[in-house]
Amino acid sequence: MIRKLAIDGNAPAFPDGPPKWPSADDEVHDALATAFANGSWGVYEGPNCTAFRNELADFHSVKFAHLCCSGTMAVELALRGLSVGPDDEVILAAYDFAGNFRAICATGATPVLVDLAPDSWSMDVEQLQDAIGPNTKAIVASHLHGCELAIDAICEFAKSQGILVVEDACQAHGAKNGNKRAGTRGDVGVLSFGGSKLMSAGRGGAVLTNNELFYQRIKIYAGEGNDAFAMSELQAAVLRPQLAKLDERNAIRNQRVRLLLSDTKPIASVSPVRLPDVDGAVCYFKLPWLIADSNENSIDRSWVVAAAIAEGIQLGEGFRGFAKRSSRRCRKPVPLENAIMAAERTVMLHHPILLRPEQEVSLLAQTLSSIFQAMSERSETKN
Ligand SMILES: *Cc1c(COP(=O)(O)O)cnc(C)c1O
Repeated sequence: MIRKLAIDGNAPAFPDGPPKWPSADDEVHDALATAFANGSWGVYEGPNCTAFRNELADFHSVKFAHLCCSGTMAVELALRGLSVGPDDEVILAAYDFAGNFRAICATGATPVLVDLAPDSWSMDVEQLQDAIGPNTKAIVASHLHGCELAIDAICEFAKSQGILVVEDACQAHGAKNGNKRAGTRGDVGVLSFGGSKLMSAGRGGAVLTNNELFYQRIKIYAGEGNDAFAMSELQAAVLRPQLAKLDERNAIRNQRVRLLLSDTKPIASVSPVRLPDVDGAVCYFKLPWLIADSNENSIDRSWVVAAAIAEGIQLGEGFRGFAKRSSRRCRKPVPLENAIMAAERTVMLHHPILLRPEQEVSLLAQTLSSIFQAMSERSETKN
């Protein structure tokens, strides 16, 4: 039976709206109180920064972690660690976080766009060969939504060509394939602790690497002037208890996603993300769907988002992507159809509801099913 939708004037499924993020956390409260009591909140570099740097490196089993002010800055520092600069080219997916394009430009290098693999939100490894040129120095590859990227294939390709990989794990905190965490397979890995992320300090970022030369270059670049891109002691203080709980929370989110997807009625025009076989290989930052549009104007997608928001569900549109950017700003050697489609058709559910009890997730599945169903009925009437 179809739920009566809030967009038609009925009662919303979640009258209080989406859960707040970051959620209330006693240990974060204690960390703030301790930093206040011992005065460490006011120092340039205190015990929490030192401890968090070590804990982050241990958690990821890497030799070096560098803390900084944002994920975007972490991407730039990573590129600088690899000595990327003017006259170099850096490959990235045409559907990615906008700041990654900017970080490449900030080094003076030129972005080179590749497509997403079909039916996914991950870079198409098959296109890398056609995208590489004599000046290509690196690839920036992002695990979007927390989903596994074909990072091993990307690293293998890069190695065979003598180029380097920045692995962006800003949306994949703690994801684990085998015994390797997201962010540890590229030459340099990047994390963000921005306000929406699975671990949040409002702002913040980190760079991970096993390569001492890259690490030294990053430290030297970041340290020029007065360490102007540093993480603060208070940010490190609130991140430490969140790191300790990350695996446990990722396991809950993964279980809720399986429940949600199995309870959401399949509809031909809506494709969910494909779940990997390996448990723990994903950690959901967003749960994406592709809406197959029945007309060119993305009316179905904006209707779905409006209907979800009316129910108190935090569903939004995906990235705008770079495929339509001018070729004066980037090189576009390969077709970018999947990236264009993802930019026009992606909707994504934000993660906070995935830590809520199972009954809420079932209600969510039921509500989303009704919305998707109503959308497909609307499009049929239009056609
Ligand atoms: C959030 C994010 C970043 C950058 O993080 P900020 O801390 O917001 O600067 C980079 N890449 C991806 C994929 C992200 O989701």
